[in-house]
This record gives sequence, C-alpha cells and structure tokens, in this order.
Amino acid sequence: MRPNQSDQTYKKEKKMTYVICEPCIDVKDSACVDVCPVDCIHPHPTQAADEFEEVNQLYIDPEECIDCGVCEPECPVEAIFIEDEVPEEWEEFIDINAEYFE
Ligand code: SF4
Ligand code: SF4
Repeated sequence: MRPNQSDQTYKKEKKMTYVICEPCIDVKDSACVDVCPVDCIHPHPTQAADEFEEVNQLYIDPEECIDCGVCEPECPVEAIFIEDEVPEEWEEFIDINAEYFE
C-alpha cells in the first residue's frame, strides 16, 4: 500500500525521500555519504565513527533528504531507491530508514 496521510506510520505530510535498502547491509562503503550535498546519510563514517561501526547499513534521513538523486548512481550495490520505486520486497526499509532518526 502506498503511504498516505491516513497511514499512521506517516505522521505528518510526507515529502518524497530516497531510501537505502537491503543490499547496503554489511557493505556500507559510504560512497553515498561522500556525494550527498546536505549530509543526510548517517551515521557518518568519520563524524560518528562509533555509531558507524555499530550499524550494519546506512540510513537516509527522510526529513533532510532533498530528493536530488545524486547518491543513487554512486551505490555499487544498487541499494538506493526513490521511495516510490523501492522494490516490494524491501518496502520495510522505508520505515527502517525513518525509524533510525526517531
Ligand atoms: S553507497 Fe550503497 S552500499 Fe555504500 S553505504 Fe551507500 S547505500 Fe550503502
Ligand atoms: S537524494 Fe540527494 S539529498 Fe537525498 S540522500 Fe541522496 S544525495 Fe542526499
């Protein structure tokens, strides 16, 4: 089901975001971090090194992502999708990314 304003997981009016999905797990090479113009991909490998070590993938902050798409082609494992195009089997990653920032 597409997110909409009546969906309780989308608490406020929702803009589009990019999402990091399963292929990033245990790869997290941070190529996307290097190109994001608004630094909304976390945890940062040097600015938050301890957190970076603890996670098994990186996450895009849906409130900060400006939807520019620069990160998508940089990912060597094609883990990044615009929200509307997240493959069905990875739709849970839309919430997984958002929940990292709650
Ligand atoms: S470029 Fe892809 S694999 Fe690398 S950290 Fe970003 S999403 Fe993960
Ligand atoms: S789409 Fe742009 S703003 Fe959003 S995470 Fe990727 S590089 Fe950053």
